[in-house]
Amino acid sequence: MNSSNPSSASAAPVAVVTGGARGIGLAVAHWFLAHGHRVALWDIDAETLGRTAAELNDPARVLAVHMDVSQPEQVQAATEQTVAAFGRIDALVNNAGVAVFKPIGETTWTDWQTVLGTNLNGPFLCTQAVAPVMKKNGGGAVVNIASISGLRASTLRVAYGTSKGALIHLTKQQATELGTVGIRVNAIAPGPVETEMAKLVHSVAIRSDYHDVIPLNRYGTTEEIANAVGFLCSPAASYVNGQVLAVDGGFDAAGVGLP
Ligand code: NAD
Repeated sequence: MNSSNPSSASAAPVAVVTGGARGIGLAVAHWFLAHGHRVALWDIDAETLGRTAAELNDPARVLAVHMDVSQPEQVQAATEQTVAAFGRIDALVNNAGVAVFKPIGETTWTDWQTVLGTNLNGPFLCTQAVAPVMKKNGGGAVVNIASISGLRASTLRVAYGTSKGALIHLTKQQATELGTVGIRVNAIAPGPVETEMAKLVHSVAIRSDYHDVIPLNRYGTTEEIANAVGFLCSPAASYVNGQVLAVDGGFDAAGVGLP
């Protein structure tokens, strides 16, 4: 795919960002817009999505699609709506995610299904729907947003960590098969990032644990994750396929576990 500035909006490459209404997804959308792309924001939260699209105030280059990544019919409809509006899809960032941090005994069946449905089924469904569109254009790039919780097990994350570990393996499966038609698939494993999700599930104790074990001694920013996504979608990463890039301040390298 091309990440240079196109001469007209209609010639610009197109990126789909799931969960693009806020947080890391919104920073990723800003990266693509700053690098000359058109962007489709797919999100389940209609109110935040509407507000974000209004703030971006660029209807020629921004499409807001209210949908749920865990529902096959909605993923198909979002793909068709994006192609009808923009004509092509060059990059897909499977970023939509939910977190439930609970001990195994307190994790309900509904928690498990919601987390796996969004974090694992979502990237499976979205990539399955978008890949034929990319193939028609001669290729594309997919980035799955996993987590350091998918690289290392720790308490409270039985559903979340399992969904992200499985997403990392899904990335390798997708890269192996889709690479043959010019679609590169990679994953990013972010360390903790200050977003609404972090506010929801990072207790004072969890925050203190992260600060203790991350060599850079801080949370990452949404922009730091977006920069890595942008790299993986750009021609600079044209031979990178099936990889997991930890953007985590050195957490994984240090090898010090969370409780
Ligand atoms: P966030 O909660 O701020 O944003 C998530 C977005 O996804 C929201 O806009 C939400 O409405 C949307 N979403 C949720 N379920 C959806 C569904 N079924 N269909 C469509 N959209 C849906 O979270 P964030 O921190 O920006 O997280 C983004 C991604 O990064 C997630 O996959 C998360 O697991 C991952 N991640 C976050 C952190 C962190 O510390 N914040 C660390 C590692 C990985």
